[in-house]
Amino acid sequence: MSNTKEKTKYIRPSWDEYFIELADTVAKRATCDRGRSGCVITKDRQILVTGYVGSPKGLPHCDDVGHLFKKVIHDDGHITQHCVRTVHAEQNAITQAARRGIALDGATLYCRMTPCRTCAMLIINCGIKRVVCEKKYHAGAESEAMFNEVGIKLKYISEDIQQYAGQNIDNSDIFKDRD
Ligand SMILES: [Zn+2]
Ligand SMILES: [Zn+2]
Repeated sequence: MSNTKEKTKYIRPSWDEYFIELADTVAKRATCDRGRSGCVITKDRQILVTGYVGSPKGLPHCDDVGHLFKKVIHDDGHITQHCVRTVHAEQNAITQAARRGIALDGATLYCRMTPCRTCAMLIINCGIKRVVCEKKYHAGAESEAMFNEVGIKLKYISEDIQQYAGQNIDNSDIFKDRD
């Protein structure tokens, strides 16, 4: 064997890849199978808090008692349904910070996909300055526009759109989905 053969150089993950991977690990604790997502909030490359999709403390989990669906009828007439039993991963991370007295001003938030409108508004008011998502949320345009307007940097690791059960359905599908 020749000594000149080059060793394969170990490539370390970037900080963004590292924290997104940790958010995926956090997501494993989620209690609703319609979106097991996780969130990590960092500052100066250190983790401040984590959160995952789950019911408020002391209330039953979707995995044990089933989902709690609410239908939303959109302006163009199409209907979507959402499980409202759970607190979103981003919201749970933010409430952890509130509980422990940790300021999120200037922090970076890592999550599975573009935050929903409610999460985006909380992220803005927490003073979070940068959001890194693994993938895109099919209905994330409003959040993207708000982040852009207030100067929050948004980065996607992949341009793929996150797929999950029942994200775009008509009435007949709602009943199917409940079985
Ligand atoms: Zn659920
Ligand atoms: Zn949300």
